[in-house]
Amino acid sequence: MPKLSLIALDGPSGVGKSTAAKRIAQELGWNYLDTGAMYRVTALALQRAGVDLADRTALEALLSSLRIEQRGTRSFLNGEDVSDAIRTPEVTKLVTPVSADARVREVLVDQQRAIGASGGWVVDGRDIGTVVFTNACCKIFLTASAEARAQRRFLELQTKGFTTSYEEILADQQRRDHADTTRAVAPLRKAEDAVELDSSDMDLDQVVSWIVAQHRKG
Ligand code: C5P
Repeated sequence: MPKLSLIALDGPSGVGKSTAAKRIAQELGWNYLDTGAMYRVTALALQRAGVDLADRTALEALLSSLRIEQRGTRSFLNGEDVSDAIRTPEVTKLVTPVSADARVREVLVDQQRAIGASGGWVVDGRDIGTVVFTNACCKIFLTASAEARAQRRFLELQTKGFTTSYEEILADQQRRDHADTTRAVAPLRKAEDAVELDSSDMDLDQVVSWIVAQHRKG
């Protein structure tokens, strides 16, 4: 299969994939696709419509009417800007079972493939290198220790004025890591041909430079 000019950036929650991906896209003059945001928009849509995942008829109807868009770094649900609404703790909890649903994944993966098909995208997620774009020319598996990730998130939330404790953040991250790595469909794992980068002791600039260099070496 011919290689697609696209960077697949996978890794666990809170590792800084989206911040790094945006910067990498800027440096390369490429586009950025946040697939996590697509799962979050779907979870929000289900919540608003009161649709239970177990009700397959209602789920199918909702999925077929769902219009998810990303313009720049903003996310839209049927034309409405829901960028803030998809980052609430409720949606963050709800997105775990929603993203584990095979039918939801099938629909969103199709959309992701259609978006990235012509190349020139940095795509971040959990299954980009293993499922969505197995032909990506550059696959990065970005990791950092659970403690380093929780500490970064803690500092970020503090500067935004939130009072969530480090322990709460660490526990939530561990819950999401466990769910993402143990689910039956498209679990989080490193693709065989991905390069792993442990960013525990790196800052954002170093991560971005490392990935851009890796891509250019490609
Ligand atoms: O990246 P973010 O944390 O915003 O993603 C939200 C959730 O969507 C994750 O917790 C993960 O369970 C799920 N996800 C996924 N596959 C992707 C991207 C995200 O299952 N490609």
